[in-house]
Amino acid sequence: LSDRLTSVFSSLRSKGRLSEEDINATAREIRLALLEADVALPVVRDFIAKVKERARGEEVSRALNPAQQVIKIVNEELIEILGGETREIRFAKTPPTVIMLAGLQGAGKTTLAGKLGQWLAGQRNTPLLVAADLQRPNAVTQLQVVGERARVPVFAPEPGNGVGDPVEVARRSLEEAERNNHNVVIIDTAGRLGVDEEMMRQAADIRDAVKPDEVLFVVDAMIGQDAVATAQAFLDGVGYDAVALTKLDGDARGGAALSIRHITGRPIMFASTGEKLEDFDLFHPERMASRILDMGDVLTLIEKAQRTFEEEEVSKMAKTLASDDDFTLDDFLEQMGMVRKLGPIGNLLGMMPGMGQMKDQLAGVDDKDLDRITAIIRSMTPAERDNPKIINGSRRLRIANGSGTEVGEVSGLVTRFFEAQKMMRQMKNGNMPGMPGMPGM
Ligand code: GDP
Ligand code: MG
Repeated sequence: LSDRLTSVFSSLRSKGRLSEEDINATAREIRLALLEADVALPVVRDFIAKVKERARGEEVSRALNPAQQVIKIVNEELIEILGGETREIRFAKTPPTVIMLAGLQGAGKTTLAGKLGQWLAGQRNTPLLVAADLQRPNAVTQLQVVGERARVPVFAPEPGNGVGDPVEVARRSLEEAERNNHNVVIIDTAGRLGVDEEMMRQAADIRDAVKPDEVLFVVDAMIGQDAVATAQAFLDGVGYDAVALTKLDGDARGGAALSIRHITGRPIMFASTGEKLEDFDLFHPERMASRILDMGDVLTLIEKAQRTFEEEEVSKMAKTLASDDDFTLDDFLEQMGMVRKLGPIGNLLGMMPGMGQMKDQLAGVDDKDLDRITAIIRSMTPAERDNPKIINGSRRLRIANGSGTEVGEVSGLVTRFFEAQKMMRQMKNGNMPGMPGMPGM
């Protein structure tokens, strides 16, 4: 998926403005890319529709070029579908909080029980793992091994303690939790290779017996399209509050995540990324989105540009350029401040109307310089700021003393300002060599 999208975006990158054809061509490619990644068709349709609508609509930003805009929209819509903010466990008002795991055999429930147990214990909880999978002969032993590794106690059936009856085991585990002050109970249940009625009934019976605070549907991210059908079957048969996605280390495409989230409306809460207990974290929609896009660097640049050039600032700049008033020292200072916020990313300067030309002037200016420049300008009288031509030798000395700088620095600044002013005048006359189109002007 990532390769595919990357090539879509690189073909967009060279264009100046986003036309209807651009949008349609991009949408076609994104559709193919998502289908290739096993995203379910209805999900793909909705996704494309949203992206298209937004690409056409309001958000024509001055800070971003068309390709960046599309990347931004795709990224934001991915995050949206994947669930927006991270969802956390809802703890019961009166402990124990009961978490029940459900899912197909091999989905990773038992492993997840250990991971979740260790993770919760690391946050000052006192979890108890419960072996309510009595279907397979070694299922109980497997959980005990996992529990030992995670250093989390395991409640397993013993003679006279619910042997052979997973519902009874689950019920008794709650008593055990109260006796031994376990504030969280994690119930591991049985799965089958395929969805079947008896398994669903057993899971539903356990659910009814223990009234879980969270039922987690555990699903293998590698099963692709099948994930949707399975997720739906479990939703109808048992019901669940959230999803834990496993084996994300194996499948880089993330289609299952997208589909399940969209079709079931349940948040994805956890991500499991390996066999070790540590390969586990809360699910982060924005990470998954950028993994699907696999354009971390681009996204970082965009976020940075976005944050720095809030729409307001950009339009303020545009106004300065459009007005008949001359470019002043205050404008100069403001522009320097805006450009500095970007850090050493020279190429982003081109995104701003007029700023491309400031680049050379600002080469080598760092935060400390900017502080000194600010101090110098603040040490000028309003008359001097209004008309820097009046700044003669004695005024320079006074300004240097007032700002704690050298006379030479004051002179240098005034010279640079005159250059910038000249440039701005040329720009306003539409006489700008090598100036890329200034959107909205
Ligand atoms: P259960 O049948 O649902 O309880 O699944 P298990 O917890 O027994 O896991 C089935 C297999 O998948 C085991 O071999 C696990 O080690 C493996 N497994 C579980 N989670 C992950 C994961 O996130 N990544 C990888 N690579 N393997 C996993
Ligand atoms: Mg198991």
